Amino acid sequence: MATLDFEFRNQILGNDIGSTLAYCYQCATCSGACPVALVTEGRYNPRRLILDALLGLKEKIFGKENAFNIWGCTICDTCDEVCPQKVELTEIFTILKNISVERGEAPEHYTGQASTVLEHGKAIPSQPAIERRREQLGLPAVMPPDMDEVKKLLTATKLAEKLPKS
Ligand code: SF4
Ligand code: SF4
Repeated sequence: MATLDFEFRNQILGNDIGSTLAYCYQCATCSGACPVALVTEGRYNPRRLILDALLGLKEKIFGKENAFNIWGCTICDTCDEVCPQKVELTEIFTILKNISVERGEAPEHYTGQASTVLEHGKAIPSQPAIERRREQLGLPAVMPPDMDEVKKLLTATKLAEKLPKS
């Protein structure tokens, strides 16, 4: 049986966004509208994730074996739009994802993509084939990102420290 972790619960409830958790009355409107819940036939379930966070059931949320419980969310914001209680689900799930990253439990496809942004300033680095194709189609050249600015911003978020060392 999962145990309540009050410190974790208070960590989530203790900020403006997380405090909206307390308004959830488990109506399941979010799960009914969530496209990921739909295609996974409920394996991913935002209502359950909100309940687990509200109860401080940390061990049901974290751990590599539970990664899909958090990372299944595509941040489409549909749940936020339909929640009658204005619970900030997507933002709360982002808090949980950030904790998951700090615990070293984020799926590799996410951390790998973040490393690419850190290195190239974009998720899909430009390649000669893409540039040639754009030219053939008469599209303007894509300006390279300002890497100094990107590095400055990402350094402020401490992204490099959070990513697994390869
Ligand atoms: S829609 Fe809002 S109130 Fe209803 S279960 Fe989801 S988070 Fe809770
Ligand atoms: S933001 Fe995440 S939890 Fe909410 S509806 Fe979209 S996929 Fe589902």
